[in-house]
Amino acid sequence: MEIDKRAYLRNLPAVHELLQHPRLQGYLKNFSKDLIVEAIRLILNQKREEILQSAHPPQIAPEDLIALIEKEIRRTARPHLRPVINATGVVLHTNLGRAPLGKEVLKNIHLVAQGYSNLEFDLQSGERGSRYTHVEELLCKISGAEAALVVNNNAAAVLLALNTLAEGKEVVVSRGELVEIGGSFRIPDVMKKSGANLKEVGTTNRTHLHDYEQAINEKTALLLKVHTSNFRILGFTAEVSLKDLVKLGRTKDLPVMQDLGSGCLLDLSRYGLPQEPTVQEALRAGADLVTFSGDKLLGGPQGGIILGQKKYVDLIKKNPLNRAVRIDKLTLAGLEATLRTYLDHEKALIQIPVLKMLTYSESELKKRAKRLQRAIAQELSSFCQVQIKKENSPVGGGSLPLHHLATWVIALRPLKISVAEMEKRLREQEPPIIARIHEDTILLDMRTIDEKEEKDLLLGLRNSLL
Ligand SMILES: *Cc1c(COP(=O)(O)O)cnc(C)c1O
Repeated sequence: MEIDKRAYLRNLPAVHELLQHPRLQGYLKNFSKDLIVEAIRLILNQKREEILQSAHPPQIAPEDLIALIEKEIRRTARPHLRPVINATGVVLHTNLGRAPLGKEVLKNIHLVAQGYSNLEFDLQSGERGSRYTHVEELLCKISGAEAALVVNNNAAAVLLALNTLAEGKEVVVSRGELVEIGGSFRIPDVMKKSGANLKEVGTTNRTHLHDYEQAINEKTALLLKVHTSNFRILGFTAEVSLKDLVKLGRTKDLPVMQDLGSGCLLDLSRYGLPQEPTVQEALRAGADLVTFSGDKLLGGPQGGIILGQKKYVDLIKKNPLNRAVRIDKLTLAGLEATLRTYLDHEKALIQIPVLKMLTYSESELKKRAKRLQRAIAQELSSFCQVQIKKENSPVGGGSLPLHHLATWVIALRPLKISVAEMEKRLREQEPPIIARIHEDTILLDMRTIDEKEEKDLLLGLRNSLL
């Protein structure tokens, strides 16, 4: 037995022999020798291990060994972070990168990234400028705010605002608004890290104005309202409107801040979506500060936006913590281009992919589903059943939690492999295809599949099923 294994091990070619193989020599054109040698070593080690572990080690053909090494070279050379086809229908899918960006936005990022820019240089005076000027005027113009600041993300915006206005002091929040957002953003935890003390008022389902009123004392620094982005409290409920909270804040000389989460700049109810509080409404209601994400309903790059009264925004800008959460130039380039699109609402609905996907008409989705169904059936009908179905897609990204958008999906029932196996194979395609499983079918939701992706989708389906 032992002797047997030694023979197997001896039969494995040496690294330098494998390196001479014409197919691996071909890779030297594009890849370093070190990378190729490393791939060879890794595969040889794996094979050695297999021989030692197995009672009956298989014979390894040299060609198979070369194929494995080639696969490993390609794997290491391929970017780890790469595009996928989102067939889940979840437009703001946090795990899949939230908002995809439109052409104009990408163009601006490309332009700014490839060379130097006036990031912090005032072209008029020839002196040092501020990176925030590129979007501040635009944000104020669109929202009606007096001042604006952008940071790395909304969690940072909330942290920074709380730290600036309420460190060592108390912040009053309703118990019904102590939100946790997927991942690790929780209002009580962010509050603690900001150095502010959380003063919870009311109950989970009902909070009244007098609850806030009674909680205010000499240590109070801020009244905070948090939009319950990803959940709703239904039934016997009461909450204090932002307007009433602002009134209270004014009489007590306390600033009022609203964390909106999903910064919606358009009234989406005009397009058949449920009413979400818009940024403009919050500011009109008198909020001294509002914070929201750049990559939720706004449809831009990751970012945190702080709008409101100049005296507060100026204080936040000067906080040393601001430097630690500052926005980078690529994001700024993308955010500016996204915001410019909002100067024309009709343009925004077409050019901002998030808004375009959320406002697709059902008939349009059905038409595309039918077309894709025909293409799939034509090629693959002996490997899977292909139907189209009316379904619902959730919005995701902690936005519009109760609303499901009527959509059209392609429902696939594989005939030769299990649904779970097919879902896994789809994930292994290039680009990977991320689909939903519902009962015993794979669902491909047309809402988040771009027309340009349909060719790759078909190819991926073919590779997974054949
Ligand atoms: C999403 C969300 C956040 C966190 O925003 P990020 O941009 O993901 O950091 C904070 N507060 C609320 C209410 C949210 O919905």
